[in-house]
Amino acid sequence: MAVVKADGYGHGAVMVAREAIAAGASHLAVATVDEGVVLRRAGIAAPVLVLGPVDLSEVSTAVASRLTLTISDSRFIPVVARTARVIARTEPVPVHLKVDTGMNRFGAKPESAVRIAHQIEARPELRLDGIYSHFADADGEDDTFTMAQADRFASSLGDLRNARISPGIVHISNSAATLRYREFDHDLVRIGIALYGLSPTPAIMLPMELRPTLGVYSRVSRLWNLERGDSVSYGRTYTATRRERIGLVPIGYADGYRRGLSSVGVVRLKGVECAIRGRVCMDQFVLSIPDSIEVHLGDQVEVISPRPGVVNSVAGIARQLDTIDYEVVTGLSRRIPRIYTKGQAVVAVQDLHALGLVAEHS
Ligand SMILES: *Cc1c(COP(=O)(O)O)cnc(C)c1O
Repeated sequence: MAVVKADGYGHGAVMVAREAIAAGASHLAVATVDEGVVLRRAGIAAPVLVLGPVDLSEVSTAVASRLTLTISDSRFIPVVARTARVIARTEPVPVHLKVDTGMNRFGAKPESAVRIAHQIEARPELRLDGIYSHFADADGEDDTFTMAQADRFASSLGDLRNARISPGIVHISNSAATLRYREFDHDLVRIGIALYGLSPTPAIMLPMELRPTLGVYSRVSRLWNLERGDSVSYGRTYTATRRERIGLVPIGYADGYRRGLSSVGVVRLKGVECAIRGRVCMDQFVLSIPDSIEVHLGDQVEVISPRPGVVNSVAGIARQLDTIDYEVVTGLSRRIPRIYTKGQAVVAVQDLHALGLVAEHS
């Protein structure tokens, strides 16, 4: 199951979903009904599981869009069934029952799994298509809690079997659990972060074949010199101590290049690391250009590198910001056009307002 929530972890859900399916994924997962609708509008027909809780007002859209809802309590069962009748679905609506085995976030208590499953089975409009749970600490150092969750999940499955309930597709593992504990694979694994070539945590080494797919690029849009004593950007947090060559890069925190990278961020120009000077603004930042390189207007700036291990990789930036890779990529805003390549060829461009300007330039 390819997890493409949060617009495919910032990579673009539709393109990622299509590639994942072409590569053999059987299912997709999103967090919200809206995200599922986007996939359907793009013509994607694969089963789409909505992982998060939905509002009652979203049920009819979800059912009409053939999304698979997660059931965690009895409340939604009559609503989904009634909606299925109203929309006159000819086939039963598939739902997955989520059991909370220790995350304490979303899901039914293991003790109520059988009762809820019976309630689903009692409705001809519904079909119990799967049962799942979610690990809280699969990327942690100590595996005790993960093992305890797996045990609780196994005993829930046992309860269902004893009650002669067929649970459908059984799944529990996210990326971290899949990389570490193949014994919990069950019928499918829910792969999010690893799908994008990023690691759930620096402590987990990805297999060699999993490489980051995403880079963020901009261009030098102005070049000038600071004189000794000149300050740069809002708040004047940087002052040149000597004559310094400087370049303007038109990307900022509104694009998801976080303000926390002010004065500490590093980008790459002609393969050379360049330091950010002063504050990252909403739409721009300023970088220092080392004397060793010759730079022209329009030269490409590698803002985020697809190469793992470098300072301006997603993982490197996550470390600088004291966060995780997930937050760095999901924070990239839609203002950054997404350009998809295969080999050297551009195969698709998604720019927010569909102006097509990017396609002309790339
Ligand atoms: C986001 C999510 C995943 C994927 O997690 P990764 O760590 O990105 O692999 C799997 N299951 C659930 C319930 C999720 O919310």
